[in-house]
Amino acid sequence: MNETTLTCMEDLYRKVDADVGDLERSHGSRLQCRPGCASCCVDNITVWEVEASFIRHHCREVLSTAPHPVGKCAFLDSCGNCRIYRWRPYVCRTQGLPLHWTEENENGTVVAYRDICPVNDPGQPVETLPEDDCWKIGPVEENLAAFQCESGDGKMKRVGLRELFGSYDSGTLS
Ligand code: SF4
Repeated sequence: MNETTLTCMEDLYRKVDADVGDLERSHGSRLQCRPGCASCCVDNITVWEVEASFIRHHCREVLSTAPHPVGKCAFLDSCGNCRIYRWRPYVCRTQGLPLHWTEENENGTVVAYRDICPVNDPGQPVETLPEDDCWKIGPVEENLAAFQCESGDGKMKRVGLRELFGSYDSGTLS
């Protein structure tokens, strides 16, 4: 990963963290996210190769250990904490917030969706929240896809977080 892409990624994560911080303050009373809660740390998360390279660059030490056993994210430790928290991918930075996104249905109508982690669901129904009070899925994903397109060979490759551990046996945790 070259220095320019590294800097772009760091700037993007910094902006995401700032915007997430604003939403966390706004939703503080409903968010139950705490160290040790790993409800959203599932085992099938994939990222663009550009985010995978960012983790490889910053987290060599963790990647030289064994992954968490299959069933939860390979980067969890035995206490349910993220071992690469500072360098975690974009998707992990927005987990727990009310999410908002749109999709076009088969009739060409754009439909709006909302969702939130079940742990944080109690409170005002997310369907009634203003769009600006939700994390909008789409823009950052587009930025990351553009970085992916511009960097390296342009292949739009996604990588499972567990794959980053390469040759390690997934049955043990160091
Ligand atoms: S990278 Fe960290 S925050 Fe993201 S799913 Fe894995 S353990 Fe959880």
